Amino acid sequence: MLTSIERGLADLKQKLPGLVSTLGDAGYASATGIWAKQVDIAPRAVVHCKNALDVQAAIRIAREHDVLVSVRGGGHDWAGRALCDGIVIDLGGLRSVAVDADHRSATIGGGARAADVTSVTDPLGLAVVAGSASSVGMTGLTLGGGYGPLIGRFGLALDNVIAAEIVLADGNIVSAEASRHADLFWSLRGGGGNFGVVTSMRHRVHAMPSVHSGMLVYPFSEATSVLERCVQIEAEAPEALTVQHLLLADPNGTVMTMVVPTWCGNPDEGEARLEPFLRLGTLLAGQIERRSYGALLSMFDAFIADGLRAVMDTCWLPAFDRSSVEAAVNGMTNAVSPGCAIITHGFRGAASRVPEDATAFGLRRDHTLVEMLATFPDRSDPTDHPRHQKWVRATREAFDTALPGGYPNLLGRDDHDRASHSYGHNARKLLEVKRRYDPENVFHSAIPLPHAT
Ligand SMILES: Cc1cc2nc3c(=O)[nH]c(=O)nc-3n(C[C@H](O)[C@H](O)[C@H](O)COP(=O)(O)OP(=O)(O)OC[C@H]3O[C@@H](n4cnc5c(N)ncnc54)[C@H](O)[C@@H]3O)c2cc1C
Repeated sequence: MLTSIERGLADLKQKLPGLVSTLGDAGYASATGIWAKQVDIAPRAVVHCKNALDVQAAIRIAREHDVLVSVRGGGHDWAGRALCDGIVIDLGGLRSVAVDADHRSATIGGGARAADVTSVTDPLGLAVVAGSASSVGMTGLTLGGGYGPLIGRFGLALDNVIAAEIVLADGNIVSAEASRHADLFWSLRGGGGNFGVVTSMRHRVHAMPSVHSGMLVYPFSEATSVLERCVQIEAEAPEALTVQHLLLADPNGTVMTMVVPTWCGNPDEGEARLEPFLRLGTLLAGQIERRSYGALLSMFDAFIADGLRAVMDTCWLPAFDRSSVEAAVNGMTNAVSPGCAIITHGFRGAASRVPEDATAFGLRRDHTLVEMLATFPDRSDPTDHPRHQKWVRATREAFDTALPGGYPNLLGRDDHDRASHSYGHNARKLLEVKRRYDPENVFHSAIPLPHAT
């Protein structure tokens, strides 16, 4: 007698021949081998979708047989939300990127990474607002927010979305935009993958022939003065300047202070605008260079290792002020392994001017996003996970000016309490739209929504 999942798999294989893989297949291994190694999730099968109709078939069959589904875009969610114990809808076959003839927008496949986009937009001197790393999925990032180096000038990635094609929980394929399915379009900009599978998104594009940036390394012993000076320069600079601060270990395990300023305004001003960042202390390495936007996003590639285990915590700060810098430096001083890192992303300018109720994203005021990240190899030491978990939590809790909530894309799997704060006044509408479009919570494996009221 076949179980319901076995019947579901048989149906899928019949309906989508050649697109279903299971344990032992190469396609299964590469789709389930995500950035953060998962040890307690065992997908039964992966459906390698090539278009919206494949996604539709996968959802319909999964629902018919009561099988769990999850969505795998770029595979960079730290909590492994791309995977579930049922069927993984893999969007690796939807990575196309097409820029419109008038260079105003780009249509991006639901599985495309930032690097797929910049490989098309860089040669045209254009940019789509992305995060700060080339390997992250554009749609996963955008559905939850999208903090990146262009934020001060152009807002979050989600502020630049014009329309989305989405396969809903009932299998219908719709286009959501300001004039059609407006409530769904609103929710897709901040509510994550809770409403369906986005097979393509149309994003605004911006003229961006080059940016100025550099990874500047200072000693950890100078972290406090370097970071405080850095924050001061940033506060007085135009919105085209953003700075990421990183406290992390180099490949030898030595903790360093890294500052990554980016200027995305008039290229003639770039060098002068960033020159003060070369004089924050004893510069150990790094220089400011003019580069393409794609090259900027690739700068972090060497620091991003795939397949390690990861735990993360996060908070929003009203400002990266003296007490926050102190908390960050103390946190790093107490790091439990070389895999511990503290990373910030700024939010200001164009992102802060968007009205709070314009999209589902809940925090529209200047702030600093802080990530506490710990990665470690998958070995048989059972203390690794709790030790790093304790460190990220304790480090986050030491930021005593933190706002309630946190960046939804980085919250833990069941962190509905903090999500309620993250969405603030938008929480109620978000839940109404969820009830309308996915009343049975088919897309349960997405970022946490607020508690139902
Ligand atoms: C190395 C690294 C760097 C990062 N840098 C940044 C950054 O600079 N700025 C920032 O804001 N965030 C950043 N993030 C966080 C990132 O935005 C989120 O983890 C995001 O969810 C990753 O999307 P993905 O498609 O790669 O992930 P996946 O693991 O594939 O997907 C995660 C979830 O997103 C949803 N999803 C993805 N694609 C779709 C789709 N097409 N349709 C419907 N739902 C979908 C699903 O719910 C899925 O479970 C970073 C993460 C990492 C690991």
